[in-house]
Amino acid sequence: MNAPYIPDLSLKGKIRRRLTRLSSRKPLPAIDQKYVSFTFDDFPKSSAINGAKNLKDKGLRGTFYACTGQFGQSNHFGELCSSDDVKRIFAAGHEIGCHTQNHIDCAVSSPAVVQMEIQRNQANLSALGISNSDAFAFPYGDVSFAGKRALSDKFATLRGVQPGINHKGSDANQLLAVPIEGDIDNLQYAKNFFEQLDAKNGWLIFYAHDVRTKFSKWGCSPALLQAIIEEAIARNYIIAPVTSIYSQIQEQQAK
Ligand SMILES: [Zn+2]
Repeated sequence: MNAPYIPDLSLKGKIRRRLTRLSSRKPLPAIDQKYVSFTFDDFPKSSAINGAKNLKDKGLRGTFYACTGQFGQSNHFGELCSSDDVKRIFAAGHEIGCHTQNHIDCAVSSPAVVQMEIQRNQANLSALGISNSDAFAFPYGDVSFAGKRALSDKFATLRGVQPGINHKGSDANQLLAVPIEGDIDNLQYAKNFFEQLDAKNGWLIFYAHDVRTKFSKWGCSPALLQAIIEEAIARNYIIAPVTSIYSQIQEQQAK
């Protein structure tokens, strides 16, 4: 399949999304540091190679949300990762999150199907020797009311695609995340969020797809990703995978 799937963009879809955002919430406690996480969805081979390398060169780790049912395939993001890629990334210390087995739209799938997709994905990762992480990202950033409720006690965090910085009261069951898309001329978009983070402590999560010179509509160039990472380092943020930051926020709250 080469054509990307477009989720429900109707008015009904918009209203459902708004109501779902208000349901099954897990509010974050106060955040008294400046945190940044770099995440990758769908796991194109280019993110497993260039994205992981960009982070590792700086001694950093990211969160890669994997769909094991797509391993070895190709789609609009180019070639997707293989089992060997995911094992290599995990061995390098990156977090391997869950993104359903087959990248299903959780907004139109029954909770039973969503749960089965998750069980299978996690079992496939376990079979590769990859411990299941506590991080999940909604494919297409979308989920139904019932689907969100069904997932809320399965993972520590659920990540969406609505841009913004997470603060006290933000929903750990639908974390805000900022896309990294395009080429170096889009650096200012990320810098705008850095300026907001400088002004107020919080947790800024980025997400990217393919990372290659000839990137897709949803992808980015290695140069843009590298520039954003360097900017985050220069600003002295705490940079770590999603579950690590979530734990740090919880620990800080407990003190
Ligand atoms: Zn995805």
